[in-house]
Amino acid sequence: MSLFLSKKALSISPSSTLAIDAKFKSMKAKGIDVVGFGAGEPDFDTPAHIKEAAIKAINEGFTKYTPASGMPQLREAVCRKFKRDNGLDYSPEQIVVSNGAKHSLVNAFMAICDPGDEVIIPAPFWVSYPEMVKMADGVPVFLNTSEENNFKFTVEDLKKAITAKTRALVLNSPSNPTGMVYSREELKEIAEVAVQNNIYIISDEIYEKLIYDGMEHTSIATFGDEIKDLTIIINGVSKTYAMTGWRIGYTASNAKIAKVMGSIQSHATSNPNSIAQVAAIAALDGPQDDIEVMRKAFIERRDYMVDRINSIEGLSCSKPQGAFYVMMNIKSILGKEFYGRVITNSDEFADVLLEKANVALVPGSGFGAEEYVRWSYATSMQNIVEGLNRIEKFIKKEL
Ligand code: PMP
Ligand code: GLU
Repeated sequence: MSLFLSKKALSISPSSTLAIDAKFKSMKAKGIDVVGFGAGEPDFDTPAHIKEAAIKAINEGFTKYTPASGMPQLREAVCRKFKRDNGLDYSPEQIVVSNGAKHSLVNAFMAICDPGDEVIIPAPFWVSYPEMVKMADGVPVFLNTSEENNFKFTVEDLKKAITAKTRALVLNSPSNPTGMVYSREELKEIAEVAVQNNIYIISDEIYEKLIYDGMEHTSIATFGDEIKDLTIIINGVSKTYAMTGWRIGYTASNAKIAKVMGSIQSHATSNPNSIAQVAAIAALDGPQDDIEVMRKAFIERRDYMVDRINSIEGLSCSKPQGAFYVMMNIKSILGKEFYGRVITNSDEFADVLLEKANVALVPGSGFGAEEYVRWSYATSMQNIVEGLNRIEKFIKKEL
C-alpha cells in the first residue's frame, strides 16, 4: 500500500522551536539533568485574577459555542486595548479572536494570498512564518539582514525585494528571534513604501510589552488611514500575560479582511475556547501590574545572559531590546572540532551541546540564521546561570 501525501503537506517542515522543547521535556521526563532554553514560553504563572475569571466562567456554565470570531465582549475589550495602548480606533467587526496568535497569522495569510503571491519575510525570522505562507499557497521571499545592522533591513533593501507579485511584508517588532525593535522613524518609512506599492503589512506585535532600554513600541498602523487599511495587526495574550496554554490570539484589520478571516475560521475551528475568552477579557481589562514585574525580571536575565555570553571566548551576541531571546553568534566555532565532531552548522552545534552538556538551544537554521543559535531567557535565573556554566565548560572542552 502506498500512502499519498499532498505536495503542499510534504513541503512543510515541523516547528524547530517546538521540536527542541519536546526533546527537552522527554529527556527531563527520563530523569536526565537537562536545562532547556527552547520554546519561548514565560516561566511565570498566569496572574491569579485571570485564572479566577476562568474558574467563574466554568462554574457559571459558560461552556458553549460563542460567535466564531470571538464573543462580542472580548472583541470590545480588544478594541479598548488598541485605543489605550496603541492609540488606534477599531470597532469589534474589525477584530477576529483565534486559537493563539499562530492561528491569527494562518488566517491572515489565507485571507490575502493567491497561489504564487510573494510574502517578504526579513531574516532572521520566527520559524513559523515561511511555513504558514506556504500553507496559504504563497511564496516566502527572504530579506536578509546582518548583526552589524542590528538585524534590521532598510527601506532601500525593501524596495529591491518588492516585485509585481509582492503581496505582503511580515514585520515583527520586537522580534523573535533577534530581539531588535524598529523605531518610530524607521516604521514610518516602511509604511510609506508599503502604501506606495500597495502591499499588506502583517504586523506581529505579540512582544509589544516586552521592550527595554527606554525603547517604545509603535504600531505601524498608526501612520494614517491608508497604512492602517493595509495592516493586519497580530497580537495575543500568550507572552504579555504568561498565558501560552490558553490559546488566545487576535487580529485587527480592515473589516473586509476580518470578515474573510472570520469565515475561514468558522469552518476550520469555530470559536476559540469560551473559557479562555473570558480569561482574556480579565487579562486585557484587569490590572496590568504583573507585566512590569515580568518585564523587570526579563531585563535582569537578559543582562546577565548577554554579559556571560560575551565573556566566553569564541561566542558573542548583541544586546536585544525586546522579546526574550538572545541570538548567539557561533561563527568562530564553525569548522572546529568539539568532542570528536567537527561542527559545521547550527544544527550540529545544538546537537553536540545537548548530547555533551545537556543544554537545549534552538539552532539558527530554522530562523534563516545558520551561524547562530537561539537562547530564550523566559526561564529562571537559576537555569540561566546553570546553562551558561555548562556552555562555558563545553566551549573550553572541560566536559
Ligand atoms: N508570533 C511570534 C513572533 C511568536 O514568537 C509566537 C510564539 N509562539 C507567536 C506569534 C504565537 O503565539 P501564540 O500562538 O502562543 O499566541
Ligand atoms: N514562539 C515561541 C518560540 O519561538 C514558542 C514556540 C512556538 O510557538 O514556536 O519559541
